[in-house]
Parts: sequence; C-alpha cells; structure tokens
Amino acid sequence: MRMDNHRESDNLEDRRGSGMGGGGLRLGGGRLGIGTIAIALVASYFLGINPLTVLNMLSGGGMPAIEQSAPEARRPPADDETARFVSQVLASTEDTWNEAFRANGQRYQEPKLVLFSGMTPTACGTGQSAMGPFYCPGDQKVYIDLVFFRELKERFKAPGEFAQAYVIAHEVGHHVQNLLGIAEKVHTTQQRVGKAEANALSVRMELQADCLAGVWGKRTDTMKQVLEPGDLEAALTAASAIGDDRLQQQAQGRIVPESFTHGSSAQRMRWFKRGFESGDMNQCNTFKAAQL
Ligand SMILES: [Zn+2]
Repeated sequence: MRMDNHRESDNLEDRRGSGMGGGGLRLGGGRLGIGTIAIALVASYFLGINPLTVLNMLSGGGMPAIEQSAPEARRPPADDETARFVSQVLASTEDTWNEAFRANGQRYQEPKLVLFSGMTPTACGTGQSAMGPFYCPGDQKVYIDLVFFRELKERFKAPGEFAQAYVIAHEVGHHVQNLLGIAEKVHTTQQRVGKAEANALSVRMELQADCLAGVWGKRTDTMKQVLEPGDLEAALTAASAIGDDRLQQQAQGRIVPESFTHGSSAQRMRWFKRGFESGDMNQCNTFKAAQL
C-alpha cells in the first residue's frame, strides 16, 4: 500500500504509555502536582472552604473548572511509522466519508481514533487490548491497541498494510452506521427480539461495515492510487480471517466480550468486495439483502 506523502489526520489521540487514568486532575488549564492537591485539601479542611476553590487559587486560574480525568491525548512521535500509517489511513477515511456524505447533502462528523496500550477508559466502559479494535458510539471514537496488527500478521496470517487499513476502515464503517442512525435502530430492535434474530442483525451490521470498508478502499484508490499488487487479496484475507471486533452493547453501557456470530468468511469477503467493486455505499444495504 502506497501512502508515502499522504496527509495525516488531526483526529488521532495517542494514549499509549499513559495507562489507566493517566490524566490526573486538571484545573484552570494547568496540571497540579499531588503535593499542591494535598496542601489544598488540608487548607480547605482548616479553612472550611471548597478544596477546588483553594486549588484554583493556588494554580492562579479563574473560575474553578474541572476537566474530566481522561488520559492525556498526545500526538504520536514523528518517527513512529505505524502510528503515522494509522493516521494517514484515518485521514483517507475522512476524505472518503466527507465526500460521500456531502454528495448526499449530509455532513460527516469525523471520529477520533485512540491508540492505547493495555487498557483505556471509554464511554462504553473500560477498553481492553484483548477485545481487539472497536468503535464506541458513546464517544464516537475508534480504539486500537497496535499489538492487534501483530496478531493480524502472526495469528491470523493476514499480513500487509492494506489488511491493517481495512481493519481501521471497518471500524470507521461502524461510525458511519452510527451517524446514519443505523446502529441505534439495530440496537433498539435487538432489545425486543429473540436472541437468534438479534444475532442475525449483528451479522448484517458487521457485513455492512465490511462493505463500507470496501467503499473506502475503492474511493481511496481512485483518488490516490494507493493499491499495489496483492493488496486486495491481503484485505480479503483479513476479512475472512478475523473474528469481529467486539461490538459493544451501547444500551448496557459497557463492552461485552464477543458473544455472537459475524457472518462467515465467505460473506465477509463478498460484502467487502461488493463495496470495493462499486465504491457506492448504496450497495451496502445488508438489511435489505435477500442473500448475505
Ligand atoms: Zn465490526
């Protein structure tokens, strides 16, 4: 896959190495040491005033303003090839979907992509590396621990950059489903139908995300000629090899381990191809398809 000088996305958050809750407490725009916080607590105890007010005085800020203790978002180091690649792929999904939405008279809201290692807090509960890449509709972010790419290569025998890019594009596909209201509709329906039918809907969601990944592949290649010989096969290998990212149950407010099927390898390949051959998201209506 050729991405040489393609632009990088502004929507990448690098949380690797920050660990759980690595954000600490931020007040008035400044970061406070634990000593300062301790002083504030003691002072407020004796003076009988809100510790936040004391903290704010100490940090010289204006009105007390607490930011949520989310881990610090950083840009990846410039020499980090993989992170740069992820950022470029993310940018190419932005180009694809900005244009596709505009053509439909809609506005695309770009998702964030979070690189993390081990664990990270998300609006869908604690994200863990073992879940594989996933999308959280609650905060509209795609979460990836890059060790997954190594797994993709070694355990799933799906090497190659385009296979990695496909995984990102599939997750962004879930974001597109979220923006279009498809995800919510499916989740609502799943609440009131039996297990088998709920699973069948999950399969259609997953295959649609594969098809949308195919649409991205086609449009990106048309715009920028990124594909090299063997790339398409690599993506199809990935499509057939990986079980799904773990779709989180938004209604339950947490990520549940994989518990349903995601379509056969043949189905996943077929829908990716369908998106790829047409480059048209209207070809991705898996919910209306008589045959998957
Ligand atoms: Zn998925």
